[in-house]
Amino acid sequence: MTTTTTKNKLKNYINGQWINAKTEEYHQVPNPATGEVLAEVPLSTLADVDDAVKAASAAYKTWSKTAVPRRARILFKYQQLLVEHWDELARLITLENGKSFNEARGEVQRGIECVEFAAGAPSLMMGKQLPDIATDIESGMYRYPIGVVGGITPFNFPMMVPCWMFPLAIAVGNTFILKPSEKTPLLANRLAELFEEAGLPKGVFNIVHGGREVVNSVLEHKGIPAISFVGSQPVAEYVYKTGTSHGKRVQALAGAKNHSIVMPDAELDSAVKEIVSAAYGSAGERCMACAVVIAVGEVAKPLIEKLKEAADGLSIGNGLDEGVFLGPVIRKEHKEKTAQYIEVGQQEGAVLLRDGREDACMTDAGYFIGPTIFDNVTTDMRIWKEEIFAPVLSIVRVDTLEEAIELTNESDFGNGACLFTESGRSVRYFRENIEVGMLGVNLGVPAPMAFFPFSGWKNSFYGDLHANGSDGVEFYTRRKMLTARWS
Ligand code: NAD
Repeated sequence: MTTTTTKNKLKNYINGQWINAKTEEYHQVPNPATGEVLAEVPLSTLADVDDAVKAASAAYKTWSKTAVPRRARILFKYQQLLVEHWDELARLITLENGKSFNEARGEVQRGIECVEFAAGAPSLMMGKQLPDIATDIESGMYRYPIGVVGGITPFNFPMMVPCWMFPLAIAVGNTFILKPSEKTPLLANRLAELFEEAGLPKGVFNIVHGGREVVNSVLEHKGIPAISFVGSQPVAEYVYKTGTSHGKRVQALAGAKNHSIVMPDAELDSAVKEIVSAAYGSAGERCMACAVVIAVGEVAKPLIEKLKEAADGLSIGNGLDEGVFLGPVIRKEHKEKTAQYIEVGQQEGAVLLRDGREDACMTDAGYFIGPTIFDNVTTDMRIWKEEIFAPVLSIVRVDTLEEAIELTNESDFGNGACLFTESGRSVRYFRENIEVGMLGVNLGVPAPMAFFPFSGWKNSFYGDLHANGSDGVEFYTRRKMLTARWS
C-alpha cells in the first residue's frame, strides 16, 4: 500500500498534487474494530474548495474536448488497476469502516462495476437524430458534459458510493471534486492514486477532505453547477434545498427504513438466511439494510425462532479476522446511540427478544454491538419510524399481505422493500401497490447494479434523476438540439 497519502495527516488532492489543507483543524480517524488511530483528516475550508474548483475548471477545458474513446480508455485502464488492487482496497475499507473483509471485497466489486459501466461512455453519450422533421429540415440531439461536479459521500460505502459518482461524471467529460466522509477518508485517496496511475490528467479528479464547511462551500460555489450527494435524510434534504436554491442541479440520496415481508408460503430457511444477512451485514449500516420484518399470519412463530437462532450463531469481531460476519459500528457515539434506541424500544413496549448489549463483544475496545431483535413492534414506536442504522431488527406482525403493504407505505422512507413468497399473485400485488423504489423478491438486499438507477422514493431521495444507469448519464450531461435546413 502507498503510505504517503493514506497515513498520518491526510492531504487533499488538487490538480494532481497532494497538498496540505489550509486548516489547523484535524479529526482522528479510528479503526472502529480497535479504536487505534489510523490517520488524521483535515477539516478543509472554503479556500481549499476554491483551489479545487480553479484546478477542475482549468482541466475541464481540455478534458471536455478530449475524444470520448480516449477518455474511455483511461477508465478501462483504471478498471484493470482496481482489479489488481482488489484485496488491498478491501482491506483498507475494513480498516476504516469495520465491515467484514468479505463484504469489503463485495463493495470493491460494486465499485469496479461502476467503472465498467462508465467505460461505455462512447455508447452512453450518443445523441439522436431525425433527418426529416419538415421538408429539408433535420433535427438532432447532442450530449455534452456540464462542468465541475461536486460529490459528497457517506461513511458506509467508502468505495462504492464515490464510484457511483466520479467515474461516470468524468467519463462523460466533467471534472470532479469529491468530499469523502470524514469518518472514512482513506480509501478515497487510494482511488485517486490509482486513477492517476491509469493516466488521468491533472485536475480532472480532485479530493477535498472535511465536513460541513466543505459541503457548504461546494453548495454555494458558483464554479460548481451540479452536486451528487449520498447520506442521511436531514442532510440530504438540506443539500438538495440549498444546492437547488443556488441554481444547481442536485441529486441527493438519503436514509431508509426497509421492510421485508414474509408470507406463510415462503421458503423459510432461505428467507431467514437472506434477512439475517440484510439486517446484520455491515452492522446494519447499509441504506438497503433490512430494518423491519413483517411476519404475515402463522409464519411469525417459526420465522422468529429461526431468526433468533441464526442471530445467535453470528460471529462478531474484527472484520479482518477469518470467519467474522458482524463487525463494529462506525464510532463510539453510534454504539451509544444504538444502545439508547434499544432502551427506547423497551420503554415503548416492544418485546426485546435478543439484546445485542449483552453480547460478549460489548467491551471498551472497538465499537461493537451484537445483533438485536424486537418483536411486537408497532408503527407508533420510534424504533419503527426512525433509521437506527445499526444491527437492530424490528418485527411487526400482521394478518394479510394487504396490511403488510399498507404498513410499509406508512413509512416516510421508500428505499427498499422485499417480499418472501412462492406466489406470483403476491409478487404482482406487492410490485403494483408498494410505494418503494427498489424491490426484492426472495432476496434481502435488492440493490440495483451500476447500469440501473438506484431508485429510492419518498424521503429516501431528493431530486429527479437517480444515481447510476441512464439516470446517471442524464444527470451528468446536458443536451443541445440542432435544427437545420439544407435545401
Ligand atoms: P451523513 O449525512 O452524516 O454524512 C454524509 C455526508 O454529509 C458526509 O460527507 C458528511 O461530511 C456530510 N455532512 C454531515 N452532516 C452535515 C451537515 N450538517 N451539513 C453539511 N454536510 C454534512 O451520513 P453518514 O452517517 O455518513 O451515512 C449514513 C447515511 O447515509 C444513512 O442515513 C444511510 O441510509 C445513508 N445512505 C443512503 C444511501 C442511498 O443510496 N440512499 C446510500 C448510502 C448511505
